[in-house]
Amino acid sequence: MARVEFRNVRKQFDDEKKGIFTAVEGSNFVINDREFVVFVGPSGCGKTTSLRMIAGLEKQTSGDIIIGDRIVNDLHPKDRDIAMVFQDYALYPHMTIRENLSFGLRNLKKPKTYIEEKVREAAAVLGLEEMLDRKPRELSGGQRQRVAVGRAIVRDPQVFLFDEPLSNLDAKLRVQMRVELADLHKRLGATIVYVTHDQVEAMTLGERIVVMNQGVIQQIASPAELYANPQNMFVAGFIGSPPMNFIDARVLGNSVFVEGTEFALQDTIADGLRAYQGREVILGIRPEHIFGEDVVSSVSGNYRLTKQIKAVEHLGSENLIYFPIGNRTVTAKVHPETVAYPGLSKTFVLDFSKVHFFDPE
Ligand code: ADP
Ligand code: MG
Repeated sequence: MARVEFRNVRKQFDDEKKGIFTAVEGSNFVINDREFVVFVGPSGCGKTTSLRMIAGLEKQTSGDIIIGDRIVNDLHPKDRDIAMVFQDYALYPHMTIRENLSFGLRNLKKPKTYIEEKVREAAAVLGLEEMLDRKPRELSGGQRQRVAVGRAIVRDPQVFLFDEPLSNLDAKLRVQMRVELADLHKRLGATIVYVTHDQVEAMTLGERIVVMNQGVIQQIASPAELYANPQNMFVAGFIGSPPMNFIDARVLGNSVFVEGTEFALQDTIADGLRAYQGREVILGIRPEHIFGEDVVSSVSGNYRLTKQIKAVEHLGSENLIYFPIGNRTVTAKVHPETVAYPGLSKTFVLDFSKVHFFDPE
């Protein structure tokens, strides 16, 4: 297995319509040997382009790409020793699963016994032993996805690249395959670079996550770190379900003023405000840190705000309550016993010990 590094990698496309277009800008990261790293960001932010540059399917405009201890800038894809699993895991429909799994190795002119052994190993790892003589159409979506992963496994690559491999599966199967992929990573001890637009998938699978927006890496961190310390509003507004709320406020001394109401902050919380003295600030607070006054558990930084409820969603294990602050709609993720219905004037308790401060856009 191997590490993967980008040093100041940029990719520009000369697009007929858009002209010179920068898809990836100033990309720097190190993925460690055996690490599972997920690239996440909205559609078009440069995830696939980054992955294709690792694979050598796309040549970077500038910068260096390192796999293992080699600079691979000029290395042909087939010499990079990586295997890629795509979203549309197109299997050969006329071939059996065994033939689909062995196809790549036969192309590489590997000995027959070697190929048989590799196919047997991959089938065992993925629970496909019973299906080797079937055709793809006889398999379920999840099983076909496993075959696509198997085609990568048989090649014993230094690095596995996955491009949205679960996005064609239904929601339930996606969750199941997520667990299987995490387990597979542990058993293979492989370096995995995984791309998705789904932040829940990223948070559950990634040991570390690379958050991208408009071609630029926003933050690289563990899921826990991204959740607790998002570096900017983009990351804060992208990670979390639902993502973080933003509230416009003004800073004076140790207080923030929200729609004219003063919240005097404890010194420890107010420390983060120094840079914003006398200015506008955006408060970031997660939906799970806002409670209904009637069902408050333990809240340390305890501030109250009465608002008229706009909408309520009942999710069973929790309710989402929507109410306005200024021009923005705020979401509270509350205990299902919290009394809430549209039009109700309700007092919310905000846990300001968990508040974040951001520069206004
Ligand atoms: P993602 O995988 O995050 O959705 P991509 O890496 O596929 O994003 O694309 C990033 C940007 O680069 C998009 O705006 C896309 O339209 C553009 N792009 C990708 N490939 C090409 C290409 N071959 N020619 C021109 N533009 C491209
Ligand atoms: Mg993509």
